[in-house]
Amino acid sequence: MEFVDSHSHLFSEEFDSDREASINRALDLSVKTILLPNIDVDTIIRLKDFSSLAPENCLPMMGLHPCSVSADYKEHLSIIEAELYSDYKYYGVGEIGLDFYWDKTFAEEQKNAFLQQCTWAAELDLGVSVHTRSATYEAISALKSMKQKPRGVFHCFSGSIEEAIEIIKLGFKLGIGGVLTYKNSNLPEVLKQLSLDDIVLETDSPYLPPVPHRGKRNESSYIPLIAEKLSDVFCVSVETIANKTTANAREVFRF
Ligand SMILES: [Zn+2]
Repeated sequence: MEFVDSHSHLFSEEFDSDREASINRALDLSVKTILLPNIDVDTIIRLKDFSSLAPENCLPMMGLHPCSVSADYKEHLSIIEAELYSDYKYYGVGEIGLDFYWDKTFAEEQKNAFLQQCTWAAELDLGVSVHTRSATYEAISALKSMKQKPRGVFHCFSGSIEEAIEIIKLGFKLGIGGVLTYKNSNLPEVLKQLSLDDIVLETDSPYLPPVPHRGKRNESSYIPLIAEKLSDVFCVSVETIANKTTANAREVFRF
């Protein structure tokens, strides 16, 4: 049995004091693959350094996060493009998307950056890791507008059944993390109406830890806690959850 954490920022500063240990804790609990989405042009060296600690297990992605899109985004995108088209092996394009929650100043720029990076993903035959906040329908319609869409995951999904159905119709999967374990979450009700074929596991470390770690730092070794909750929701064994979600993640990110 093995798990995949399809979205983890284990390379971030929060883990500087225990980088190797955080990987080993995940490996000890059968979390064998950790996909690492980049944030911005300043995190690239950190991302590569971290991945080199365990290149078989820690798989980097490359992208510009929507919250890092500002007036000079085109310069930043050209650095992302150079990375993606270099010889360095990236396993996906991420994290990319639209975030209108705090600030819509650069909404147009965010949309341009998102579509550009999706185009590269389609061209390079890479999966995308999509972040949306207060912009899920905008991201769905941006993808619908593309002639050649990439495959991918809507990471940290916590939306409605209607949104889930639209995402699945695009051929995308839902990234499910710690939010599933929260008492007030409507995710169990939504997921019950869907198929396990459309779900991948993720932590989004260091954010959004599952119960009983709420309020603390999240890490990839908490994946089994999310899998356990998902096994309750679907009334199947944890092993079935592990097998299915691992196969789904492989289908998207081809590792
Ligand atoms: Zn993230």
